[in-house]
Parts: sequence; structure tokens; C-alpha cells
Amino acid sequence: MILKKSLVSQMVLPNSRTLCKALRTSKLVCSSPSHRHPSASSISTTTSAAPSGTMLTITRPDDWHLHVRDGPAMRSVVPHTAEHYGRAVIMPNLTPPVTNVNMALQYKQRIMEAVPAQFSHFSPIMTLYLTDRTSAEDVHAAKAAGVPAFKLYPAGATTNSDSGVTDLAKVLPALKAMASSGVLLLVHGEVTDVHVDMFDREAVFIKEKLIPILDLVPDLKVVMEHITTKEAADFVSSAPDNVAASVTPQHILLNRNALFVKGLRPHNYCLPVLKRELHREAVAAAVTCGHSRFFLGTDSAPHLKGAKEAACGCAGIFSAPVALGLYAEAFEKAGALEKLEAFASFNGPDFYGMPRNTDKITLVKEAVEVPDSYQFGENNGVVVPMRAGEHVEWRVFSVVPQ
Ligand SMILES: [Zn+2]
Repeated sequence: MILKKSLVSQMVLPNSRTLCKALRTSKLVCSSPSHRHPSASSISTTTSAAPSGTMLTITRPDDWHLHVRDGPAMRSVVPHTAEHYGRAVIMPNLTPPVTNVNMALQYKQRIMEAVPAQFSHFSPIMTLYLTDRTSAEDVHAAKAAGVPAFKLYPAGATTNSDSGVTDLAKVLPALKAMASSGVLLLVHGEVTDVHVDMFDREAVFIKEKLIPILDLVPDLKVVMEHITTKEAADFVSSAPDNVAASVTPQHILLNRNALFVKGLRPHNYCLPVLKRELHREAVAAAVTCGHSRFFLGTDSAPHLKGAKEAACGCAGIFSAPVALGLYAEAFEKAGALEKLEAFASFNGPDFYGMPRNTDKITLVKEAVEVPDSYQFGENNGVVVPMRAGEHVEWRVFSVVPQ
């Protein structure tokens, strides 16, 4: 990672007291030596933010959790991700869901056709949708085809998840095949029991689903996707090395108040839903302390503006064009800009067992106004991005080819 314009001694670790407070609040411990966060005594006492114009050059990141939809809508959003990232893990919750290798490879082809020629570095990583009918043979076929992961949606948990798993016992042979062949399980970690409070569903999932899965299949590599709670941050931090988490920009920058500021804010509604401040602090602390099993996954999930601003609005936040700048903001706030590169560019490929990217991108600290909307699909459709009409403090300045 290269920083220009501001010497490291001038700019590092603003708001270190905030970081320490967050770590104390969450009781989060980076458990192995390589994960350990700096002790209070090693944190710089400098509290100023990076000066405007500061350049930050890092290895090109990947997005380990992304929704790009399909058809004309897909062609609108893929370029936003392809411009900044080397790879992206593509979620399989289309209608119908992507449940077999042929469907995944055809979907991959359609995505590749939507990548503009100047972003030919970009490569989608395909996943398959785990259903009650997924077999060990399906897992072996995925492995052979280079599809590295299955996504577990508890039935009914989020957008297009009606085909999800109803009973973990039904997928046990598939999970065992995944563990033995090194295929990852990506989980949407929420129970769907209507009697469980919406804000408690992630914590209950860990207790009632995830821990039993890991007890039954202890070698399974699991990514808890888009974590939102102190319980999830603590669980992953202290879990064995085969358990990791992806983290979105919204869950380290916003708490649930953002849903209700001066009225209902549908564009801040996603699943799992934003939580109270202590949870935001705990997730942000887990990420910015430099723990190696947390990595970037935007969960950028575009919907038509009208489908969000509706009586029964869709869940999902579209962050692809601005996410890197938002993550930089969060790391800067925590005084941990020097840890952004590992989170964005190293921890994900290391966990997946893939090579790190070799080209670089440069971010610049320069406030940029986010458009009110971007074109989305046909018929003048638009999608509203995260921070629409406001500013992001960092933006991508340039890309340095390998
Ligand atoms: Zn998602």
C-alpha cells in the first residue's frame, strides 16, 4: 500500500479513541497473533483525518458478495463493478435461481458480455443456490466446473429466496461433500421464523443453525455473508480458521436510525436490516482492527427506484459505484486506513484459496457528489445509489495496470 501527499506519521489513525472505545464496547478480540489489533499504546496519538488530496494506492480489490441481476438491468450495473474490482462473487438468487453448473456457466457468459472492453481484467466468480435437492454429485460437478461456492438462503430470508433450504438435514450430504472437496458454503445468516424479532434473526441463526452446521461438518469452509451484529463479529473473530465473514459498507457506516431520519428511508433498507449503534461499532471494529477473516463484500443489490419507493419496498442497497470510497471513509474514521488493503484485496482471495490481484488502484481523498440515480435496465428505469445526492469523501482516482 502506498500513501502519497500525507506522510504516514501525519495521517494515520485518526480517532484512535473511537477505535479503542469500539473494541472495548464489543469486547472483540483478534484471537491469533496475526489478527491482533494494535494495543492502545501502539496507536498514534494523531487524531487528524487525512488531508484532502491524499492518495492511497492499494492492490486492486475484489467484491466477495454482489448482485448483478440479469438481462438489461445486469448490463447497466456490471460496468460499475468491473471498473474498480478484479473479481466479484456473483449471487445466484435470480428467478429461477441458479442451481446447477450449466445455469451458472451461462449466467457467467452473459455477465462477461456485459463487461465493457476497457475493463477486460474483470472476472465473475460464480456460485450456486443451495436447495433442499442439492446433492453431493451437484457439489462435485461444481468443483469440477470451477464454481467455488454454494449459497445458503434459509427459505424466504430475502429477495428471491423462496427456493431456499427448509431443513438443514436435507442438505447434510451436500455439506459433507463441500467440506471434503473444498467448496465453500456462503450463508445468508438469518432465521426466517416469523416469531423471531427481525433485529434478532442473525444472532438466532448463529445459535440455531450455524453452530449446529459446524458441529456436524467441522471442516466446512463457511462465509457468513454481510454480517450486521456484535454476535456475528464476535463469533467469526473467535471461530476456527475455516469461518470468515464479508462486510458491506452500510453495516459499518450506518445504524438503524438511518432508516428513519426525517421520514422513512427505503434506500437504506436491506437484509439483514441495519442494526443499533453498538452492533455497527462491533462490526466496524472487527473489520478495522485488521482481522484476516473479514473481507469486502458490498452486497450491492440494485432495484428499480419504484420497487424501493413502494408500499412493500424491496430490500437491497445499490453501492457498487461508491463502495470503495465508503469503505475508505470507514477505515479512515477508525484510524485504520493502512488496513484497508488487506480487507479489500488480500483477505478474500486468501480465504477462497485464490491468487491475489497484481494490478493496483489509487484512491484519492476528494469529496465527490453521488448522483441521484443511475440508469438501470430499459424504459428509463433508474436505480438510486447509496448516499444519493450527498458526498463520499474518497473516490477511485486511477487504475495502474499490472
Ligand atoms: Zn446479498
